[in-house]
Amino acid sequence: MIGGGATGVMQRYSVFSLVSNALRGNQHWERAWRDPDPKEEYDVVIVGGGGHGLATAYYLAKEHGINKVAVLEKGYLGGGNAGRNTTIVRSNYMIDGNTQFYEHSLKLWHGLSQDLNYNVMFSPRGYVALATSQAQMDASAFRANSMRMNGIDAELLTREQVQKLLPYLDCSPNARFPVYGGLWQGRAGTARHDAVNWGFARAADSRGVDIIQQCEVLGYLWDGGRIVGVETTRGNIRAKKVALAVAGSTTLLGQKAGLELPIESHLLQAFVTEPIKPMIDYVIAYGTAHFYISQSDKGGLVLGGDLDGYNSYAQRGNLPIVDEVLTVAKALIPALSRLRVLRHWAGVMDMSMDGSPIICKAPVDGLYLNCGWCYGGFKATPASGFAFAHTIAKDEPYETNARFTLDRFRRGYQIDEKGAGPTPGAH
Ligand SMILES: Cc1cc2nc3c(=O)[nH]c(=O)nc-3n(C[C@H](O)[C@H](O)[C@H](O)COP(=O)(O)OP(=O)(O)OC[C@H]3O[C@@H](n4cnc5c(N)ncnc54)[C@H](O)[C@@H]3O)c2cc1C
Repeated sequence: MIGGGATGVMQRYSVFSLVSNALRGNQHWERAWRDPDPKEEYDVVIVGGGGHGLATAYYLAKEHGINKVAVLEKGYLGGGNAGRNTTIVRSNYMIDGNTQFYEHSLKLWHGLSQDLNYNVMFSPRGYVALATSQAQMDASAFRANSMRMNGIDAELLTREQVQKLLPYLDCSPNARFPVYGGLWQGRAGTARHDAVNWGFARAADSRGVDIIQQCEVLGYLWDGGRIVGVETTRGNIRAKKVALAVAGSTTLLGQKAGLELPIESHLLQAFVTEPIKPMIDYVIAYGTAHFYISQSDKGGLVLGGDLDGYNSYAQRGNLPIVDEVLTVAKALIPALSRLRVLRHWAGVMDMSMDGSPIICKAPVDGLYLNCGWCYGGFKATPASGFAFAHTIAKDEPYETNARFTLDRFRRGYQIDEKGAGPTPGAH
């Protein structure tokens, strides 16, 4: 049997379908999505089968009734950053533009499993950003106030409250990184990254979107100065609109359209330890050494740190960051010192020059851009797809991405959340 995109009726997941399939030996589940050949022409071709491309396709069909859409993925769904991240979801931003956008995303996360009829394993377990100096406590208070004024939940924690919440932290005054307190966001948490990709893929397919894997976009079809399709490894495909959601490959496909974009590609690694009993109930972030950690449902600790520090398109990192991340982990939580790391890997980050994303029409007719996600694009997935779909469908931004323009860099209107300037490695 095939998924709903072909039959028009998607088998809904429910307790009844679980029981009925279990009684029949689990031999009758439908495919989650079809595997169609590319058609000659679509209304919209989305390049990139990561979370952002798939979410865009879903919202194009759901919100705008546009379902002559193809998502073209050069490898497999979620093989890019969407399946490689540390799955942290939060909305503790404080600069106008980012604040509204990420809060919209968090609201969508809270209803996403129901909306997609797919368990994305969203776990709003709470997020603590530790402060390790009085100056950081002041900055945390500033951020918390700004969030609360925007209707976003935020709470300042004292050192004692942090100690109570996270008793395994080295909170002694002599610790290498003494903890002063923290910023708490209770509605933040994690989600299962693969499930997010698969949930969006299945829901988009059920609305008629063609999801085409192993189909690399090599260049564009042009009619004068307008892009009217793409050249791919599976032939030419015409499209009224072409939308890029290719993260670390944005500069490569931008160049083919004659665009020099304010994006650099950098590596970011993630690590998973052997599974242990539940220990870390919350997501912990530690800005001083740019470190973050949570525990997966399987028990592995999921942790990460800084960029590798050099430009690359390779999906693998280097040893100095392994050393750095694990050193910080041990300094902060000494009990981890004898835990073994099971796996580590890297993704190619699309680092923008102010740390904020770009979702807009490109300065080339027929082309649309979604990029610049830096460290934080997983949490943005639903809101990014929602806003990008609106931009493609209406040829104007949605209210949440009005500031995420490309020309803000030319005009000097950067959205510099971290105040790090045009230094991608510092964002
Ligand atoms: C180690 C790591 C940890 C992270 N941790 C977090 C976190 O905790 N929280 C958070 O919010 N964010 C996190 N991120 C960032 C987040 O993962 C990304 O910003 C987000 O997943 C980007 O999604 P995407 O769909 O834009 O890109 P991707 O998932 O990378 O999708 C782009 C797709 O485009 C495809 N593609 C590229 N070129 C072509 C072509 N020519 N033709 C066809 N297809 C093409 C690629 O194969 C890829 O599948 C992390 C990232 C990494 C690497």
